[in-house]
Amino acid sequence: MGLNDIRERIGKAEAKAGRDPGSVTLIAVSKVQPLARVEAVLEQGHRCFGENKVQEAAGKWPGFRERFDGIDLHLIGPLQTNKARQALGLFQAIHSVDRPKLAKTLARLAQEEGQCPDLFIQVNTGEEPQKAGVLPADADAFVAECQGMDLPVRGLMCIPPLDEEPSLHFALLAKIAVRNGLDGLSMGMSSDFESAIALGATHVRVGSAIFGERAAPEG
Ligand SMILES: *Cc1c(COP(=O)(O)O)cnc(C)c1O
Repeated sequence: MGLNDIRERIGKAEAKAGRDPGSVTLIAVSKVQPLARVEAVLEQGHRCFGENKVQEAAGKWPGFRERFDGIDLHLIGPLQTNKARQALGLFQAIHSVDRPKLAKTLARLAQEEGQCPDLFIQVNTGEEPQKAGVLPADADAFVAECQGMDLPVRGLMCIPPLDEEPSLHFALLAKIAVRNGLDGLSMGMSSDFESAIALGATHVRVGSAIFGERAAPEG
């Protein structure tokens, strides 16, 4: 448990997979965590964090940014188009691009602002009706559509179904990325980041294993 332990486990998983040291980015998922815990991780020198809600991030991170340089903030939860402009001002990466309407809005705003966060396209690898993301069969077309709008598509993201072997989903996501020529793979959480790294994850999203259990249920 804790940041140093997770860093060490990531290093070992990189080595075991024959990956370069530091090739995996650790996104510390700070949603719903008490500010004191987040601050402790900032004090340890970590700068890359993930939040799943725009509103929550907007309440928390401007204050931290006044006190800590170089914060790299990633949106890992669903994004409504009416919050896209706010998201562009807060986040360096968005991992939840999942539909044409959102892609079009981001493309328009990126033009206006002259910049755009790194984007990951969320793929619903388990084809779960309640879950966000494009279906695997629609992924290639959606990647091409986003690239056609000049959006900076950095890679793909998935959240495997709770009751299935995650490695099957990581392997599927990796396969879709390869055939689309994409390098980034945002996959792996507290319980399965090592297997995600073995299958090529470039970004792991780890919350409770760094900060402890979340008090409130996530929405
Ligand atoms: C909350 C969350 C995580 C982190 O989950 P843990 O199990 O606490 O590591 C990762 N990815 C997404 C999309 C999340 O919403």
